[in-house]
Amino acid sequence: GANGNSNSTVQRKPPPAKRRETPPSSDQESWGRHSSEDDADEDEDQEAQDIVAIMNKLPKGVDPQSARQILNDIVVRGDEVHWEDIAGLEPAKKALKEAVVYPFLRPDLFSGLREPARGMLLFGPPGTGKTMLARAVATESKSTFFSVSASSLTSKWHGESEKLVRALFGLAKALAPSIIFVDEIDSLLSARSSGSEHEASRRSKTEFLVQWSDLQRAAAGREQSARDKKEGDASRVLVLAATNMPWDIDEAARRRFVRRQYIPLPEHHVREQQLGTLLSHQHHELSAEDIQVLVHVTEGFSGSDITALAKDAAMGPLRNLGEALLHTPMDQIRPIKFQDFESSLYSIRPSVSSEGLRKYEDWAKEFGERG
Ligand code: ADP
Repeated sequence: GANGNSNSTVQRKPPPAKRRETPPSSDQESWGRHSSEDDADEDEDQEAQDIVAIMNKLPKGVDPQSARQILNDIVVRGDEVHWEDIAGLEPAKKALKEAVVYPFLRPDLFSGLREPARGMLLFGPPGTGKTMLARAVATESKSTFFSVSASSLTSKWHGESEKLVRALFGLAKALAPSIIFVDEIDSLLSARSSGSEHEASRRSKTEFLVQWSDLQRAAAGREQSARDKKEGDASRVLVLAATNMPWDIDEAARRRFVRRQYIPLPEHHVREQQLGTLLSHQHHELSAEDIQVLVHVTEGFSGSDITALAKDAAMGPLRNLGEALLHTPMDQIRPIKFQDFESSLYSIRPSVSSEGLRKYEDWAKEFGERG
């Protein structure tokens, strides 16, 4: 995913849609009300206060040190993703709106038969937008976003990982509505970790499944005692998970994801749209035909491969300058040309082979929903 080395992060509940035009009103809940860029300092103060407030009323059973560990990695700026930032993937967006966003915004409409699923798996080749989709869901559903990489739950905090899992779910309930996004879920729920693998990863897997079941039960309304309610709103916590290796997830865990959404490589028109967006604010001289050629030759590229290609090509005009770039005025930098893309295509190659792709297609046919 895009969150590279961040192990565990929380994104503030995105502010209401109109926030850029209207200053936040004072009755808004404190967790959701920042992020205009000029307010960076205020935001940091507010953030520190938020953390103190949450630490002061941690739900029972949540280890304070683990809670702090999760809360400390708060991502404030630059993390909002909106649907329109993501090229293509219309079926996935539609499924996520129906399964998560609308139920979070109108819980009254989604009960009984319409009770939403508590978990959704996004699977497909790397760099196709799974992390972006999860971020967009958090933004659009105005939820607190917990982004955890599964390998960090199993290895990083050796021995502490069960506590961390409990803290994660405890905080998610306390700060509901929440999305728990687990990247590389295969490493947490793989068939291997239930066997002779590390004791620690087996235990965090078990704890994860227990906590997740509790959510499901509470959401179904069967066992939501007064105590549970006081600890937060379990019915508005959802586990979203992503994997590039869906076949590694063991069968029992796989079945728990009622919804499994395939996130495929971008088709022709999606690549066209993405290249268009990437070039839209650039000084370039590619003709419509040039762009068609690029769309054609990038068959098999993922969204992230296409981004990498465009970034590399955009460096072309600067590379040609050599040291002169240090004193060349902005308006004398030449536009990006088709030839820049041609040279970049030598080094930027698709990350998934056609053979690799077939494996995803087969798994999708057997276990997934088409995206
Ligand atoms: P994944 O989680 O599937 O591995 P990401 O969502 O982290 O992939 O995408 C990595 C990067 O690739 C993004 O930050 C973005 O620059 C680009 N990208 C991937 N898919 C898309 C898409 N559908 N639309 C726009 N950009 C994309």
